[in-house]
Amino acid sequence: METWQKQLQASITDPQKLTRVYGVDPQPLRAVADKYPMRVPPYYRDLIKYVGDPIWKQAVPDERECHDSICVDDPLEEENQSPVPNLVHRYPDRVLFLVCSECAMYCRFCTRKRKVGGAEMQISTTTIDAGINYIAAHPEIRDVIISGGDPLLLSDEKLDDILTRVRAIPHVQIIRIGTRVPVVLPMRITSGLIRVLRKHHPLYLNTHFNHPDEITSQSAKACERLANIGIPLGNQCVLLRGVNDDPEVMTLLMHKLLQIRVRPYYIYQADMVQGTDHFRTRVEEGLDIIKALRGHTSGMAVPAYVIDAPGGGGKIPLLPDYLQSLGTDVVLKNYQGKEFHYVNAAEPVVDINFDKVVNLP
Ligand SMILES: *Cc1c(COP(=O)(O)O)cnc(C)c1O
Ligand code: SF4
Repeated sequence: METWQKQLQASITDPQKLTRVYGVDPQPLRAVADKYPMRVPPYYRDLIKYVGDPIWKQAVPDERECHDSICVDDPLEEENQSPVPNLVHRYPDRVLFLVCSECAMYCRFCTRKRKVGGAEMQISTTTIDAGINYIAAHPEIRDVIISGGDPLLLSDEKLDDILTRVRAIPHVQIIRIGTRVPVVLPMRITSGLIRVLRKHHPLYLNTHFNHPDEITSQSAKACERLANIGIPLGNQCVLLRGVNDDPEVMTLLMHKLLQIRVRPYYIYQADMVQGTDHFRTRVEEGLDIIKALRGHTSGMAVPAYVIDAPGGGGKIPLLPDYLQSLGTDVVLKNYQGKEFHYVNAAEPVVDINFDKVVNLP
């Protein structure tokens, strides 16, 4: 079962198929999977070591997805910030362009749980054309993030066509791809796909590893192929209760990522998405993870910890209080908790009037 298409066809979409093997009652999970689709490719299923482990939690429906909570369907107000369907224009110079409604694996904690893999998410040549026309008509857009769903579930031809058309827009400086395929379906990184991607530089790719157990020889190979054609790889992970809410697990993840040539980019605080409340952690736990990383290990291994602001305010970085006070005396705390002082520079003053010297002989 080495082709990605075969992997997808053999995916588990009914909880019963999985729970039977593990002796878990599938009955309550059926309703969950009806509301929020399930899809687990055999490759990812084989990473499960036991019921309720970090792989299981990410992939298998949980009764709590249907519980009421303070969470909402679209906390980031993506729909309100979409001038055309499936294109989010939140920041001045960049857009998020959703080009595929499917994913290889439906993550139970997904921010776009309201629509991925369901009838709600209508992507067609019409919406893709509208997105490309919008980008072309807005010269302030210099960075386009191609996402979904998962854009690498498109055929090589469709993806090539979209990348070619976005690349042809003169003001688009860089294209980024957001994909979980290297983690959940690494055999999708075929030589055919590589031939497509290498044509569209400068191209960046952010993937989404959440746990060290997701780093396997196959996912490492997928990242190696991408890195070998000059695509800088980043990782955006989500802080998830029971999955990676532990400084030791996160440190191991960051170290393993660097070994497969992936640079940690973001740790997201879990969004307030309906059906994912049981995954949320306290913000203090995220700060503790940053404290455990910064200074204790390579700066390259330390991502930015952010909260994507409810209401669509964008990503806001959170840092432990290294800056204790800021005046003439800058009081700092290092990674060991020791205090240091830096003497601030004086306020800038115009000390030389260059106009007077301009006309010297
Ligand atoms: C995350 C995001 C971006 C990209 O943000 P960066 O901080 O530049 O990586 C752009 N648009 C939307 C809507 C986003 O959610
Ligand atoms: S791959 Fe991304 S978009 Fe798809 S279900 Fe997972 S988190 Fe959501």
